[in-house]
Amino acid sequence: MFSIHDESAVISLLEANGHKKFRYAQIENAVYKNLITDFEKIETLPKEIRALLSENCYFMSLSVKTAVTSDDGQTTKFLIETKDNKFLEAVIMRHLSGRNTLCVSSQVGCPMACTFCATGKLGLTRNLEFSEIIEQIMIAVHHLAKEDKKLRNVVYMGMGEPFLNYENVKRSIEIACGQKKLDLSSRRITVSTCGIVPGINKIAEDFPQVSLAISLHAPTDEARSAIMPVEQTYPLDKLMAALDAYVTKTNKRIFYEYIMINGLTDRPEYAHALANLLKGRLAHVNFIPYNPGEGSSDSPMQPTSKIMIKKFQDTLEAVGVPSTIRHTMGDDIDAACGQLALKEQEEK
Ligand code: SAH
Repeated sequence: MFSIHDESAVISLLEANGHKKFRYAQIENAVYKNLITDFEKIETLPKEIRALLSENCYFMSLSVKTAVTSDDGQTTKFLIETKDNKFLEAVIMRHLSGRNTLCVSSQVGCPMACTFCATGKLGLTRNLEFSEIIEQIMIAVHHLAKEDKKLRNVVYMGMGEPFLNYENVKRSIEIACGQKKLDLSSRRITVSTCGIVPGINKIAEDFPQVSLAISLHAPTDEARSAIMPVEQTYPLDKLMAALDAYVTKTNKRIFYEYIMINGLTDRPEYAHALANLLKGRLAHVNFIPYNPGEGSSDSPMQPTSKIMIKKFQDTLEAVGVPSTIRHTMGDDIDAACGQLALKEQEEK
C-alpha cells in the first residue's frame, strides 16, 4: 500500500495495469480540488480503476486522536497518531483578518534540544514522511472546509526541525504549492529553522519564493549557546553569512523569531546586540513571549513582561529594523510547541 499523494507510484500503478496516464489528472482533481476521500466516490473513474486504487492506495495513514478548539474559537489543535503509534500535532490558527494558518510538524520529536522547547525534551523519534506532512495539511483543509473556510498559510513550526528532514519537507511543499494539487501560494508557506545552514542554502535554490523564519532567540554566540545546542555546529557568523547569501539570492526578507524569556534572553544589552546584528539586513523580528506551558513546574523560565518586550522593539525601531510582538494563541489548549504530544508521552 502507498499514499495517494505519491504521484509517481500512482502513475506507475495505472500504467502497469494498462491505464492511460490522463487518469491521474482525474485522481488529482478528485483528491485536491473536490476533496474526495473515498476512491469509490471518484465518479470520473471507471469502476476498475477505483478498485485498483482501493486495493493499493490509502488517503490517510494518520489518525486524529483529539481535535480541541480554544474557547475563543480561533485555534484548533490536533493530536495525531501515526501508523506506528507515534504522536504529533498540528494547529489551525484562524486569524481575525480571515486568513487561516496551519502549523505542521516535520518530525516526531526533535533532536535539537533547545532548552526552552517542550519538543526538545522528547528527543528525536523519527522523521515524518512527505505524505504524513501532506496528510496534516489535508486534515486541516477538510476541517476548515466544514466551516466553509479555506487554508491560506502553512508554517513549518510544529514539532521537529524541518531542515533535518529536508527531502520530505521539499516533497510536501511541492504538493502544497502544485497548481494541480493544493495550489497554495509559495509565499504563504513559511519554513522555520533553528539555523541549519545546509538547509538554508538548499531552500534558497529549491524554493526562492517560500518564506524563511529563523529561530534566533539570542543575539550573541554566548547567549545563544546557553539555550540552543545548534550554536556549536552553526555559530552565528556562519548562520548570518548563509542568511546574507539567502537574501542576495532570493531578495526576500527573513523573519527572525526571538523568544522573550525573563532574565535570559531579554537583558537590555541584548536589545542593542540584536539591533547591531540586524541593522542594515533585510529582516523582520517576531518577538515571542516564552510559553511556559505544561511541564512548567520543573522549568525556572518565565515570560518577559510586555513592557520589556516593547523596549526591545523600540531599540530595533531606532535602527530601522521592523518587528512584531506576537500574541500567543491557544494557550488554554496547550497549542504551543510540543505541549500536548509531550503530555501524551509522559502519561504513557
Ligand atoms: N525547529 C524549527 C521549527 C520549530 S518552530 C525551529 O526551531 O525554528 C517552533 C518555534 O517555537 C521556534 O521558533 C521555537 O524556538 C519556538 N518555541 C519553542 N518552545 C517555545 C516556548 N516554550 N515558548 C515560545 N516559543 C517556543
